[in-house]
Amino acid sequence: MKRWKKFLLALLAVLLIAQLPYVYRRYRVGQRADLIQSLNAQRVVRKDPEFDEYKGIIHAHTSLGGHSTGNFDELIEGAASNGLDFVVMTEHTSADYDTAALTLNGVFKNVLFIGGNEADTISGDRFLMIDGGPEMFADAKLATPQFLEKYHAQGKIALITYPDRFKSWDSDFDGVEVFSLHTNAKRNTRILTIPDMLWSFPSYPGLTVAENFRRPDEELAQYDAVAAKRPLTLFAGTDAHSNIGFHLLGDDAGHKFINLKIDRYATTFGIVRAHILIEHGTPLNRESVIEAFRKGRVFVGFDVAGDTSGFDLHAEAGATKTRMGEATELKEGLKLRAFAPLPARFVVYRDGTKVYESGNQAEIEFDVKDRGAYRVEVYRDDLGSSFGIAPWIYSNPIYVR
Ligand SMILES: [Zn+2]
Repeated sequence: MKRWKKFLLALLAVLLIAQLPYVYRRYRVGQRADLIQSLNAQRVVRKDPEFDEYKGIIHAHTSLGGHSTGNFDELIEGAASNGLDFVVMTEHTSADYDTAALTLNGVFKNVLFIGGNEADTISGDRFLMIDGGPEMFADAKLATPQFLEKYHAQGKIALITYPDRFKSWDSDFDGVEVFSLHTNAKRNTRILTIPDMLWSFPSYPGLTVAENFRRPDEELAQYDAVAAKRPLTLFAGTDAHSNIGFHLLGDDAGHKFINLKIDRYATTFGIVRAHILIEHGTPLNRESVIEAFRKGRVFVGFDVAGDTSGFDLHAEAGATKTRMGEATELKEGLKLRAFAPLPARFVVYRDGTKVYESGNQAEIEFDVKDRGAYRVEVYRDDLGSSFGIAPWIYSNPIYVR
């Protein structure tokens, strides 16, 4: 055999052997997907008779405000195919037109869309505003306190996005995006290699993206420090852009020879969701969604690891029941009860300090002896990989005063 042929054969062998870890990884992801699916069928849901639960996502962009190539069709299809009830749009602002008014507003394919904005202040802070407004581009010249004063007077809520860059921690904001899917997915594209994208991603896009998630320790600590002092909403943002990936040999009309996009709306809308609670009898609409976020009647569910619908957290003392986002007085016999649709590990935090950790079980009861903001994180150790490190569910707090 000629030397160059030997060399080519050896190179081919090395390339094939180098694929083995990725093939094995794909096998493991597939096993996990099967496990999640079979456990999903065993879920138990406990419904609060006074509230209805709706699932959706918050923080989505289209090409309207730049930074994204996504269009309305792709977005509506992604939301409908995931069975979402609502999507909070947060278009970047424009000097020339009102992106909150021009984006999706209303019901399309059974999904409620609410036009918000992602807006800056001169203080260097960035907010998700629901809903949005025509002056938000110009109002980037306002300092954060003035900006918040103006929009609170209009009944809008301001949620911090990019808490790592946020400066005005003593201002009057309404919530903190403790987890950003976009930031985590981007980090993942640096950890995941092209072979992972070729082997695991096509069959299990959501799970492959979620493999390397971790608990956002810093963001949660920032959140807990404020929530210890006043009620504040915690949430995870999708920050859907539909713009991470690569393609070879294509044109901008979408004809692409190799086109690996890891953050299609249909993928990201299935990974992490906001589950909101709306009083039974009140319809799901723009006002009731904003109200749920304002009051902290929301929990974060990483539904990619199993549907979190039906999670419940409340405090009980005699006949009084206190729900997420609400406050109650410290009294004898006050208990915190949490329930998950599948057995899992529950961790209770009081003002950011871990005060209780359960084994693998479907519900917990915790005696409350001290004042503070109590919230729960739920972990799926049974799924392995990052799922024992990154929470499956994050509740909002119950405030014991
Ligand atoms: Zn964004």
